[in-house]
Amino acid sequence: MNTYDADDALAGDPEVAAILASELERQRSTVQLIASENFTSRAVLAATASVLTNKYSEGYPGRRYYGGNAFADEVESLARDRAAALFGAPHANVQPHSGASANVAAYLALVEPGDTILAMRLDQGGHLTHGSPVSITGKTYRFVSYGVTPAADDGSGERIDLDQLRDLARSERPRLIVAGTTAYSRVIDPRPFREIADEVGALFMFDAAHPAGLIAGGAHPSPVGIADVVTFTTHKTLRGPRGGAILCGEEHARAVDAAVFPGLQGGPLEHVIAAKAVAFAEAARPEFKEYAAQVVRNAAALADALVEEGFRLVAGGTENHQVIVDLRAFDPELTGKAAQEVLDRAGITCNRNQIPDDPRSPFVTSGLRLGSAAETTAGMGEQEMREVGALLARVLRGRSDDEVVERVRAEVAALCGRFDPYPPGRASESRS
Ligand SMILES: *Cc1c(COP(=O)(O)O)cnc(C)c1O
Repeated sequence: MNTYDADDALAGDPEVAAILASELERQRSTVQLIASENFTSRAVLAATASVLTNKYSEGYPGRRYYGGNAFADEVESLARDRAAALFGAPHANVQPHSGASANVAAYLALVEPGDTILAMRLDQGGHLTHGSPVSITGKTYRFVSYGVTPAADDGSGERIDLDQLRDLARSERPRLIVAGTTAYSRVIDPRPFREIADEVGALFMFDAAHPAGLIAGGAHPSPVGIADVVTFTTHKTLRGPRGGAILCGEEHARAVDAAVFPGLQGGPLEHVIAAKAVAFAEAARPEFKEYAAQVVRNAAALADALVEEGFRLVAGGTENHQVIVDLRAFDPELTGKAAQEVLDRAGITCNRNQIPDDPRSPFVTSGLRLGSAAETTAGMGEQEMREVGALLARVLRGRSDDEVVERVRAEVAALCGRFDPYPPGRASESRS
């Protein structure tokens, strides 16, 4: 019954079955370089496709509004305990439907409408929920943004500008300081944020949406115990189902729980919570430490290959799963939008991204954001990441020649054929 591909259970709906089969084939035969994506284990897929999707469980374990919640309680308690143990946090809330929901709930728990919040500039790596005017966050709170330092020839620039952060904290007196990024290739040390927050009497929230898996796997410093609240997604480097979660100390536990439900959400997705429990256990295994370290090595290998091909990298390189590419040095005419489109045709899936002080609009951009988390799960190593870098450069150089695009697409398919994220006929096997 619990299937990850379109099989028997969907035989009665050939339209949807065909779409799912095509999507599985797309994921298998093209390179997945979207930095926020990953390939979950079959166990995570199975839990996500389980009968818990039928259950209404408003409230929390032991305090539900409806009957029949014995097993929803069990699975949510297990997920909470595993999340808390994995990250060494006193309290975990595993109900947020997404990273955005986790962030909105955290704001609801920690600050009042109209309060000032300091967060990263959107066009320099921050997230929509860090105060974009089109987001409910930007409409509800008074966001003030800090950015990155100017680019430097030796690659030492484009780091989070802690001096600017400190100055803004002193002049704006925010109630909350947010660390965390959606496009940033360096380690974020939570300690200076804590010091600045303490100096001005602000709370400190760390949005670990991207590095959660690197933190769980010990490749990046943990903000748990340093930040007042840590939010994260479960589907990026953590490799679980699509969703969010919040960690905090006991002093914020009640406020966080009340903010998620009934503050923001209705019934939790207990099938996804079951899958989160599976993912937290997977991330606690020794193999996951190796995975996190390999993700970082693979991103570095991809970065090196791209520099050899003549690309400039934002922040001069990478220390996490992301590589932010400035296309202008490679080809001043090439936009992020055009690059993304031709790469898609060649079977290399990634997204355009603004670079700091990008002269082009967010829809066009001068950059690309690449990530190593998904293909590392599929088994690629540094050699393959270098190959991917060379293929990417080849197709961008030959982008006006359909034959080049077709040849690269065939090579990409051959490469991906050796690294199938869901090899057929091994459904019961767990991933290392
Ligand atoms: C991805 C991301 C989010 C939002 O996660 P969704 O699950 O897409 O809602 C929030 N913050 C940051 C920094 C992110 O990168």
